[in-house]
Order: sequence, then C-alpha cells, then structure tokens
Amino acid sequence: MPMADIRSNFQPLTAQHLLRAAERVAAGYSQHRFGPSTEYDLLFDGHHLPPKAVFGVAATEALGFEVGPENFSAGDNTLCFRVLRANGYRIVRKGEADPISLFELSDEDRVWAEGRPRLVTHIRRERSTGLAAAKRDQFRALHGRLYCERCGMDPVKTFGSDLGEACIEIHHRDTHLAEMTDGHRTKLDELQCLCANCHRVTHRELKATS
Ligand SMILES: [Zn+2]
Ligand SMILES: [Zn+2]
Repeated sequence: MPMADIRSNFQPLTAQHLLRAAERVAAGYSQHRFGPSTEYDLLFDGHHLPPKAVFGVAATEALGFEVGPENFSAGDNTLCFRVLRANGYRIVRKGEADPISLFELSDEDRVWAEGRPRLVTHIRRERSTGLAAAKRDQFRALHGRLYCERCGMDPVKTFGSDLGEACIEIHHRDTHLAEMTDGHRTKLDELQCLCANCHRVTHRELKATS
C-alpha cells in the first residue's frame, strides 16, 4: 500500500487527508507556519502549491496536533515527497512543465482522446492530483473492499489475492450541472471505481456521445 512506509510515524494519515490539505492550501488556507516553496511545486488542479505545506497541513489534521516545518524534511527522496508521489501527486522543480502529456498515454487512450479536448481533460483529471488514491481510500472505508461499480466484479474474489485490486481503476464521471445537489457533491463523488474492462467500455460510450 502506498501509505505503508509512513505508517510508523504518521499512522493515521490517509490519502483523504492529503487531498483535503491540497484543496485547502489551493484555496488560500494560511493557518500554518510553512513558507512558500523555494525549489519544488506540487501540481494540483491548476495550482502550484508548496509540497511541504500540503503534507504538513494533512499531517496536522491526521495527528490532531500541529506538525510544523521543523518536524520533517522535504525534497527528493524524503518521506514527505515519497508519500505525496505514491498517492498520485506530481511534484516538479519550479519552472518545469507538467510531466503528464498525451505522449505518455497508452495507444488505446491516445486514440480515444485524439482531437477531443474534452476527453483529454477527462484523462488528465483521472490521472492527476491524488484524487484516485483518495477515492480508493474512501471507497474502502465505505464498503470494506474495492469492487467495480458497474458490473460488481470483486477483484480479490476473482483473482484470489489483493493483487487483483490493480484492475480497479478510477473513472471521472462527467456530471451535468442539473444533477448536482447543492453543496453535497464533492470531487470524490464525481469519481467511480471501475474494473479495467468496464472502464474501457465506459470510455467508448463516452466517445460515441461526444
Ligand atoms: Zn466492471
Ligand atoms: Zn474514465
């Protein structure tokens, strides 16, 4: 599990804490003692955030006491960066471009999205910003296990080991404004756990209608 290597020190810290912290820091939350970053940016939803502040704000909420800049270090090969990256956050040196480009996609995805900016945006959302890790966390907490929301497939049952969980992917549902119930939809509610097969079919349906 991505969080396993920090369990000894930051036991209660989950992907959902990280996501909430990133959202708060992106929204301008400043009740912390972390300064602006000097070398690295964490890319989140179009924002460039100080990675150390995001981790510190998340740890503070998870542990229930203030975790300050002096309590841990940041930078390549630190616990802080390893955990953020393991949870899907992209951290780049200042001035570096976003490393996710269409050229890194599988052939299937590239052909699928080619020439359709809306679908490119869709893929970027699904692949980025720690949302997927937080969704898996939330889904497990809610249902006790991961399964496909479309066909009900339980990968652990089907494949006989936790390795099967790798086939549960995160799909971003395009929600029409009319379907939104006021204030109760979160980013995680827009995401769906799908097995790889259902995800592929869902994308083909999406393409057929876009
Ligand atoms: Zn399925
Ligand atoms: Zn998808």
